[in-house]
Amino acid sequence: MTDYRKEALKIQDEIIADRRAVHGFAELGLDLPKTVAYVTEKLQSYGIDAKPCGKGGVTATIGQGGKVILLRGDMDALPMAEDTGLPYAATNGNCHSCGHDMHAAMLLGAAKLLKEHESELKGRVKFMFQPGEEILGGAAEMIRNGLLENPPVDVAFGMHTSTGGKHSDVGTISYKKDYVTFSGDFVKVTVHGKQSHGASPEMGVDAISIAAHIVTGLEELISREVSNQERSIVLTGKIYGGDSCNTQAGTCVLEVSVRAASAERRDFLKKRVKEISEGIALAFRGTAEVEYVYGMAPMYNHPDMYNCVPGYIAEIVGEENVVEVHEYGGTEDFTAVAERVPSIYVNIGTGSIAGPDITHHNPKIIFDESALPIGTAVYCQTAVRWLEEHQ
Ligand SMILES: [Zn+2]
Ligand SMILES: [Zn+2]
Repeated sequence: MTDYRKEALKIQDEIIADRRAVHGFAELGLDLPKTVAYVTEKLQSYGIDAKPCGKGGVTATIGQGGKVILLRGDMDALPMAEDTGLPYAATNGNCHSCGHDMHAAMLLGAAKLLKEHESELKGRVKFMFQPGEEILGGAAEMIRNGLLENPPVDVAFGMHTSTGGKHSDVGTISYKKDYVTFSGDFVKVTVHGKQSHGASPEMGVDAISIAAHIVTGLEELISREVSNQERSIVLTGKIYGGDSCNTQAGTCVLEVSVRAASAERRDFLKKRVKEISEGIALAFRGTAEVEYVYGMAPMYNHPDMYNCVPGYIAEIVGEENVVEVHEYGGTEDFTAVAERVPSIYVNIGTGSIAGPDITHHNPKIIFDESALPIGTAVYCQTAVRWLEEHQ
């Protein structure tokens, strides 16, 4: 079998050049004209038929017949001025401080190598160069535009740089079983009371007082109804209502963020946030209207994938460097793919050249480029081995 670690090292300079090019473009959201043009041209130069997919996305498939594994790499930057002093730093007020330039370059490297070895593939590999990860809408945009069809995708693999924390050394890959990231939902609770003069409380119903009870009621939810082994979150982050200090407020609005550690917990919290809000409002003679807006689902690593993919990755980095972790991350919009096809999302150590306390979304962050060929090899090995074992 082809040694992808060696092959990736041979094209290391090209992967670094790709990374620095994308790094300099540092484009935002779904609007990535330079990045998309660059990625498309590179793919075409390898003989790959790359196509736009939705706003700011690029996709391509190689191989003939058989199952389809999707490899995801995102490409968008963040709206903050880069402060690294690097000679190839972005100068347009944006910054690749989440490492998506690394992702795009590693995936380009993988596309090049897999295309060179296309005849050895036991199925097909679909590439997903994704925009808008930071705005949590890019994956959904590509899915709406047919990403998972024609050919239909069987499984998917995503990877993110890891810097500054545990398991972030170059050469280390970490993964988690089951749920990896929280869901991120938004709840608006509008409390209706009855406005009255502050000197005649019996004439009204104080919506602010009811809202205050709801805030503390919602706090009981995590501390009294959820295991202390779990880290789901219910946070009232914004509250507003009332007209003047001497008037009982007729309405008061709470804006609440709910982060659940699993899909089951997400349903439970949704139900209880509504019951607590409505119940407390009723107890104090008011009403509460609960609008629950589903945001990002929690990222779920499918057992069909975590039972085999870490083994393929170990063939590249060594078993001792594939680490199972138990911590949750933030949110990740690869979730939109993982909700539809069995997927796995892992972290790739990319060192901490600027210091361990400078991590993602810090404009001083400097990723270690020696991780790039490892990432490219991991993408290749995962695709080739999964296809081999799932014909
Ligand atoms: Zn980010
Ligand atoms: Zn990111």
